[in-house]
Amino acid sequence: MIQFINVSKRYNDGTSALNDIDLEIKAGELVTLIGPSGCGKTTTMKMINRLVEPTSGQILIEGKDISRINPVELRRNIGYVIQHIGLFPHMTIKENVAVVPKLKGVHRSSYERRIDELMEMVGLNPDQYRDRYPAELSGGQQQRIGVIRALAAEPSIILMDEPFSALDPISREQLQDELIRLQEEVKKTIVFVSHDMDEALKIADRIVIMQSGEIVQMDTPDRILRRP
Ligand code: ADP
Ligand code: ADP
Repeated sequence: MIQFINVSKRYNDGTSALNDIDLEIKAGELVTLIGPSGCGKTTTMKMINRLVEPTSGQILIEGKDISRINPVELRRNIGYVIQHIGLFPHMTIKENVAVVPKLKGVHRSSYERRIDELMEMVGLNPDQYRDRYPAELSGGQQQRIGVIRALAAEPSIILMDEPFSALDPISREQLQDELIRLQEEVKKTIVFVSHDMDEALKIADRIVIMQSGEIVQMDTPDRILRRP
């Protein structure tokens, strides 16, 4: 699904962020990129939607070199969830989530039904919350809406950059559990950046451990736990 071939990144100021990365992410797989601050996780993730361009190497999505895909076109198919989700404050929850489905010309009744389903899956009663404004929701609830907004756009890939790390520990654990349940149903290809090994062990199908711009280990949580 997503393939990095000999990818390196040096920023304009000379910082070498990634050094010859090879990586393959399968369709429907949740892969966590983990490692200390500055090891290149965000750079790796942002290359997938062309927010950052590689200095050398190649990135393929479904076999297609993404440098040949228009970035706007590319991003239409890639959801992006970040720490501070940035819902539009003047729009209701439903309007926020409906932005992309509307742009895509999805029929109103069908996206409205989907939004209700997704809200129920993360424990938000649609009747109670769909017409509220973001400021009327807690941080954890807003972050749930961020996840739902990405899913409602029906992307084939979702990028998540420490989406839960600004939350209190209890909300964070709840959202991790909900993500696991959601993923069982939707089976998206998810690239999830984290600096928390417990989180990675809990949610990931596969963990990619990075250090100083390199991949030092890549395996399932089970096998990573069993290694000395
Ligand atoms: P590129 O090489 O991809 O063109 P730039 O070097 O032009 O990237 O930087 C892009 C943006 O990232 C700029 O706004 C810059 O201020 C910011 N930036 C620069 N250095 C760092 C850094 N060490 N960490 C995070 N962001 C940075
Ligand atoms: P992580 O997500 O693991 O914290 P990053 O991918 O953000 O790591 O950063 C990797 C390295 O690249 C760091 O040394 C960081 O300071 C540097 N870096 C990130 N963005 C930029 C930028 N826009 N310009 C220059 N250096 C950057």
